[in-house]
Amino acid sequence: MSNKKFDVVVIGAGPAGYVAAIRCAQLGMTVACVDEWQDHNGVASLGGTCLNVGCIPSKALLESSHMYAATASDFPEHGIHARSISVDVKTMIARKDRVVAELTQGISALFQTNKITLVHGHARLSPGKIVKVSERGSSETRESLEAENIIIAAGSSPVRLDRAPLTDGYIFDSAGALEFESVPKTLGVIGAGAIGLELGSVWSRLGSEVVLLEAMDTFLPSADKQISRAAFRSYKKQGLDIRLSARLLSTSVKQKKVHVTYEDTRGAQQIKFDRVIVAVGRKPNSDYLFGDEMELEIDEREFIHVNKYCETSVPCIYAIGDIVRGPMLAHKGSEEGIMVAERIAGQKSTVNYDLIPYVIYTHPEVAWVGKSEHACHSAGIPVNVGMFPLTASGRARAMGATDGLVKIIAHQETDRIIGVHICAAQASELVAQAVMAMGMEASAEDVALTMFAHPTLSESVHEAALAVHNRAIHIKN
Ligand code: FAD
Ligand code: NAD
Repeated sequence: MSNKKFDVVVIGAGPAGYVAAIRCAQLGMTVACVDEWQDHNGVASLGGTCLNVGCIPSKALLESSHMYAATASDFPEHGIHARSISVDVKTMIARKDRVVAELTQGISALFQTNKITLVHGHARLSPGKIVKVSERGSSETRESLEAENIIIAAGSSPVRLDRAPLTDGYIFDSAGALEFESVPKTLGVIGAGAIGLELGSVWSRLGSEVVLLEAMDTFLPSADKQISRAAFRSYKKQGLDIRLSARLLSTSVKQKKVHVTYEDTRGAQQIKFDRVIVAVGRKPNSDYLFGDEMELEIDEREFIHVNKYCETSVPCIYAIGDIVRGPMLAHKGSEEGIMVAERIAGQKSTVNYDLIPYVIYTHPEVAWVGKSEHACHSAGIPVNVGMFPLTASGRARAMGATDGLVKIIAHQETDRIIGVHICAAQASELVAQAVMAMGMEASAEDVALTMFAHPTLSESVHEAALAVHNRAIHIKN
């Protein structure tokens, strides 16, 4: 079997890998991308976790469920009366599947336009920069690819709990929770992180009684404390029952119910659900990736070890996205893909890891970039803080979306913005303004001197910047 030769072979076609492949091709390199994902019908589907079972399908269902919840509970206040509304879960899921299919096919089209060779199968790395490809589940090599450079973008998979093993019809991971055929009357979610909150919101809006069991005693510990408190209050108002310090002890399926026992500060507790989602984090797909004799440095949590340029311990082999350190976010992986492609082409590209935006797509949304106030205090950084509550925003009132606040943290001496934290409708869009401002090293004064259109939610960012120096207009300073 002769080896096919490429300038770059990318392993994985998720948002890290497919973006890297496209950028390499744009820069004139010959590129192959190996990916093993297949849909329910066994057909190759590009886009990895993000497009197939992650970012996109979850947002499609968040959109549908938000429309239903708004129609059911917000319309009467607007003087709109729908005689009867109901949920057709099958149609909702079919729409979600269509959105996914359109986007995954879009990546295939981009691969063709960019003349990227797509190889469907399981890749294993062998010495001498050889990538061996086999059928899924087989160890027999079907073809070998020889590369000048290899980019590993094999992504991550859900963490499994022995105490809550996936059980058909009862206990699901995040992918399973995007495929429910009906709305469960009661739903337990293990883990109140991004996935638990987003998928818990979807099914709660559609009518499930949702209880989230979170092992930690702090809610959203990476978020700014004021923001996580505001979000917690808002979720509670919507009916999400979030129980902290709840350590899972066991699950069992009996009489068509999942019986869950957990321990909290009051002792052992028992609760029954129709279905349970396990959303306790994800782990890197670094097993089954290496053939015999191939060694790359892997850290104790099974991430491939890389430096800030995503270079592994072996020259010309790079790793990006969820399989390396840092937050497991699609946009972080994509930016690493672009950086690596450009560095292979001899450019000096970098990723600014201090400016990664975080978003949780609940309602209101939670979004932030940069340091929280408590992180600044712990690091001894002197700060000024400006805050603006959404209740004081004309647009938020017109929208009926007054929950939340915008908070800007600026260095006390330089006024440079260090962190922006938002709990608000459309926080995912608002935070982009903060990322741009911080990317350009703006001060709170720079944002305060900028004119924002009225009436917009963005004015809350302006007012928070004014509030840093106690001169917000629509609140008492
Ligand atoms: P992946 O997307 O996991 O892609 C890796 C690809 O490599 C897969 O196609 C896999 O089949 C393939 N592969 C693995 N091993 C091999 C092998 N040996 N040979 C061949 N192919 C292989 N992030 C956000 O930023 N925003 C969100 O809103 C968001 N929502 C999410 C919602 C859910 C429910 C989930 C589960 C995740 C969400 N994420 C979100 C996280 C996001 O999906 C990941 O951070 C992102 O997909 C990581 O991209 P990646 O390219 O590194 O890996
Ligand atoms: P996560 O790390 O965000 O949250 C998992 C939660 O489960 C944590 O709060 C953890 O304390 C808790 N937990 C762990 N073990 C537990 C146990 N035994 N019992 C109860 N609680 C337990 O992970 P996730 O929500 O599964 O998401 C996985 C990854 O996907 C994350 O890194 C996230 O960044 C990414 N993601 C991002 C988005 C987004 O950007 N909007 C959406 C979904 C997922």
